[in-house]
Amino acid sequence: MKIILASSEVVPFAKTGGLADVCGALPRELENLGHEVNVFMPYYRCVKEKADKFQIEDTRQKLEIPVGSLVEDGQLLRTTVPNSNVPVWLVGHDEYFNRDGLYGENGQDYQDNCERFTFFCRSVMESIRILDLQPDLIHVNDWQTGLIPALLKCEYHQNPIYENVASLMTVHNLAYQGTFVADKMAITGLDWKHFNYEEMEFYGRLNLLKTGLVYADAINTVSPTYAKEIQSPAQGCGLETVLQHRSADVSGIINGIDDTAWNPAVDELISQKFDRDSWPVGKAACKAEVQKLGQLHQNPDVPMIGIVGRLATQKGWSLILPVMRRWLEDPNNHAQWVVLGTGDPDFHVVLSTLQQQFAGQLSVTLDFSNQLAHQIEAGSDIFVMPSEYEPCGLNQMYSMAYGTVPVVRSTGGLADTVVDASLETLGNGTANGFSFADFSADALEHTLHRAARMYYEDKECWRQLVNQGMSQDWSWTASAKAYEALYGRLTKK
Ligand code: ADP
Repeated sequence: MKIILASSEVVPFAKTGGLADVCGALPRELENLGHEVNVFMPYYRCVKEKADKFQIEDTRQKLEIPVGSLVEDGQLLRTTVPNSNVPVWLVGHDEYFNRDGLYGENGQDYQDNCERFTFFCRSVMESIRILDLQPDLIHVNDWQTGLIPALLKCEYHQNPIYENVASLMTVHNLAYQGTFVADKMAITGLDWKHFNYEEMEFYGRLNLLKTGLVYADAINTVSPTYAKEIQSPAQGCGLETVLQHRSADVSGIINGIDDTAWNPAVDELISQKFDRDSWPVGKAACKAEVQKLGQLHQNPDVPMIGIVGRLATQKGWSLILPVMRRWLEDPNNHAQWVVLGTGDPDFHVVLSTLQQQFAGQLSVTLDFSNQLAHQIEAGSDIFVMPSEYEPCGLNQMYSMAYGTVPVVRSTGGLADTVVDASLETLGNGTANGFSFADFSADALEHTLHRAARMYYEDKECWRQLVNQGMSQDWSWTASAKAYEALYGRLTKK
């Protein structure tokens, strides 16, 4: 198949979230499966500044793109996805993209985001013709590329080049929708007749995510459970009825993890590498290292509980903090806690205070450190992730790959990857962690007690959980095959 992937972020060129990881890894895997993929993204300042490193060439191809009543000049540059032959077409327009941020600066969105991403979407459509790419399918991602399916259906459909091109929209996080004042409808260049509640309008505003959801041939999100949850009022962010309406076309595919970076057998960032056979020794060495780094008591026999992630309400800190405090205050509870994260200043204050109070048993690092994230994943026995919602989640998969048993709330991708240890799942060999449903501190604490009890009292079952997590395939290869099957259904190939 010939696939176009359009995204506002692609690793390693530009990243603010998981979207970039998907759009960097998936094209490479699709190429390995024999497909022809072309990636499009904006030519941001952060890419331009590393033009030499990324071996970017200027194709000298000029673009003339209508944005509202103006015609904007753009340029097309080219590089490739690292370790592949997949072309990455960089859409250049200095006034729009040569800026410090991707979407905004100092917590403020850019005022002309509608113009910037209309320009990008229209540039993709024009480049398909100019470069004679003849795609079978265009795969768009999040609101920044939501206009493309609408352009395909409402404007380009009569041109034979685009006539049989299918479109797929992936939602990485439904909370970000790209909404703009109604006047911005004129920027898109689409007829005002489409500005209605069945199509592009949302409570009086233009909504580009909704636009994509309405016009794409199919919609997917980054886990099967999240695909269901976003069709409910509780998690639909106002778009649940749109998604319910398209229910038959909504599915979920779990993201993979980059197993060249997150693999304990080859990880240069941890003190001792290990694999499925050598983990008892390897993890013990890594645990000792984390205890040293975090100035914790050197004790190999107590469970170490790791937490890495944004200090944001979404991640369940309102559950973690009271449980952590109760356990630390309990003189008979010797579990150690290791926290790495940045984010909400209120959580910074609470965690700093706890750290001072419970030195030796709690280590808190309020920073972004990739190396420490690897060290914590490798050294911990238990990883805690009680998210309120979680489209996919990566840390629980990193944990299992590193033999660290996850304790999660069963929502979104966490529900799809973590199998709670019960008599039944231990019996049939599928158990790989612990999970609970109720979003409450009591439910988290109860589940942590179950985990700690097994850690202390049933080493054999614990080994079984670790082995199962380490044996599963969390790589992109499996996810890419699921995308391949979905593309195949849409293009009938
Ligand atoms: P989300 O995308 O919602 O933040 P994920 O679990 O999908 O959550 O991915 C988070 C990624 O960011 C993981 O790779 C995690 O290790 C990393 N990360 C988050 N906070 C930190 C931090 N303070 N230091 C290092 N890595 C972090």
